Amino acid sequence: MQLQVTISPYIIDQAMVMIAVYDISDLHELKLTLQKQMKKIEHLNHELQHDKQIIDDNLLIVKTDGEFHIIEVSKAFNTFFGFEKNELVDSQLQVICSDKIPVSEYAQMKNTLQNGQRWSGEIEIISKNKQAIWVDAVVTPWSNNSGSLSSYTAIYHDITDKKRLELLATTDPLTKLYNRYKFDEIFGIMLMREHWKTDDSFAIVMADIDHFKQINDVYGHPRGDEVLVQIAKVLSQTLQNGDVIARWGGEEFIFLLSHVSASKAIHVAEKLRMAVEQLRLFVDVRLSFGVSLFVEGDTHATLLNRADTALYKAKKNGRNRVEIV
Ligand code: GH3
Ligand code: MG
Ligand code: MG
Repeated sequence: MQLQVTISPYIIDQAMVMIAVYDISDLHELKLTLQKQMKKIEHLNHELQHDKQIIDDNLLIVKTDGEFHIIEVSKAFNTFFGFEKNELVDSQLQVICSDKIPVSEYAQMKNTLQNGQRWSGEIEIISKNKQAIWVDAVVTPWSNNSGSLSSYTAIYHDITDKKRLELLATTDPLTKLYNRYKFDEIFGIMLMREHWKTDDSFAIVMADIDHFKQINDVYGHPRGDEVLVQIAKVLSQTLQNGDVIARWGGEEFIFLLSHVSASKAIHVAEKLRMAVEQLRLFVDVRLSFGVSLFVEGDTHATLLNRADTALYKAKKNGRNRVEIV
């Protein structure tokens, strides 16, 4: 039993004292429990600080307020992207994001977050020395006690290697155009859509350089490569947004034009043919084109066959021309 004893002089009679005895067992018990809890909290706090330090040192984290102003940046983030401590604080999150990401994607991200939902996706971060680095981002919104969104925490993972492999797997190293594999992937997606009509369909266009063997024979293979690069460039620049170009084979290109009719597809192929014709290189180059328009029942094979047949027809009919089958 825990007792508290108070002895005080008895004022009326100096020879006597007054003793007060209180049972403080409960209070004592409470005190011990409190001490134990305090120790536990101290221990947890210590662990928390330790974990926080590990997170700060190793994870790429940026915290913003509800208006996307940066309020906290992890040490690992600053180190990885080359920023000084507190350098990014008070800036808008946008200053470290690449403008290569479409505005619509940012809008979609903001929308998701402002609805209180977590957003994840791949974005490019611009480092201090203006290098664009691909990261996988997970952004979590936080609400304050009154339920309104008060901050966002973004955790990033560097995916440069993944992106490099992706690029290698989908791009032709010489012309930097999509390769056959990537083209077929997009082609497959287009075939799965069901709403194509004759006046709003998609077309496959095959193009093959005329007498390219001669260019190689006369000027040599490296100069032939140069021609391929220049042609790829002018073809890409002539193409409209949303249309796709790929290197199909050695000196063959393939296009996927969406939302076209047969006449529109021929018109686009004509435009591509003329763009190459007007190119001023060390040698004149010409291209032949074969077009096929998707119609009900077409498959990957039937469409490619028709485009190939059309290309063969263009070659047979004198080259530097467009044919459709
Ligand atoms: P045609 O008008 O009938 O198409 O004649 P062509 O000479 O273009 O056709 P052919 O198929 O006989 O020759 C294609 C040439 O393309 C042969 C090959 O050496 C060349 N070629 C293919 N790939 C490359 C490449 O990556 N670089 C270079 N420089 N030449 C290539
Ligand atoms: Mg060829
Ligand atoms: Mg050729």
